[in-house]
Amino acid sequence: MPELPEVESVRRSLAPALEGARIVSAAVRHPRLARRNESPFDVEDRLRGRLIRRMGRTGKFLLADIEGDFTWVTHLGMSGRIELANPGEPEKPHTHVVITTDRSREMRMVDPRTFGFVAVYTPEELAGSTIADLGPDALQDLPRSPVWVRRLAGRKVAIKTLLLDQRFVAGLGNIYADEVLHRARIRPDRPAGSLTVEEIKRLRAAVAPILQAGLRWGGTSLDDLAYLLPDGRAGEYLHRLQAYGREGLPCRRDGTSVERTVLGGRSSFWCPQCQQ
Ligand SMILES: [Zn+2]
Repeated sequence: MPELPEVESVRRSLAPALEGARIVSAAVRHPRLARRNESPFDVEDRLRGRLIRRMGRTGKFLLADIEGDFTWVTHLGMSGRIELANPGEPEKPHTHVVITTDRSREMRMVDPRTFGFVAVYTPEELAGSTIADLGPDALQDLPRSPVWVRRLAGRKVAIKTLLLDQRFVAGLGNIYADEVLHRARIRPDRPAGSLTVEEIKRLRAAVAPILQAGLRWGGTSLDDLAYLLPDGRAGEYLHRLQAYGREGLPCRRDGTSVERTVLGGRSSFWCPQCQQ
């Protein structure tokens, strides 16, 4: 599933192509992709003819400011991917959303599993959506560690599970949560409330460098290539991962075999030597 570095990489590619462009047409061809709007035609009706002011992002959501006080929301779900294509270029299978503008490139969303969605919200609808429940963005406004110390106190939930909770911090998913915990040298299954102040500082300090590194390499395209950059290139962070997906391989820090544990239904990869 695309996480913050992937979604931010997509945003950075889309911004120059779409900011300041006027939308000519918007087509949602698979009704499931429009399920978050009240009317299935809201996306098409509300986007057509309007100016895209700014491409933004919070957590794993792309949020574009659209003329008329609308917010165009895109979430890539499990397998969604966005491409910029020339009109007339053959479409990939599972192209479910196509947005054309008065510029030469069109935005297409390909989503084989249809867990992603697009929506266009009024300010009131946005305030009533799950986006309003998101915690602080992991890259842009991560709270200082004293805030984390307070918020972790007494919590029995595994720290990995808490890092995945988008209401706690928005943007981390399974890959980068494992990488953050490896960098911070903390076991994923530690109850959040058992972390010392020192460990919480280390954890908080590990978030930005991991996300920045992911971003620098265009995110992580796994072997299934479900995630690709809008120009079709793969994100290259995969080969730089320290823990995620490395079961049985040597920890890059100390050579110990990386273990995989299932936690809250998700695989967690961690080193039993350096993560305590
Ligand atoms: Zn290790």
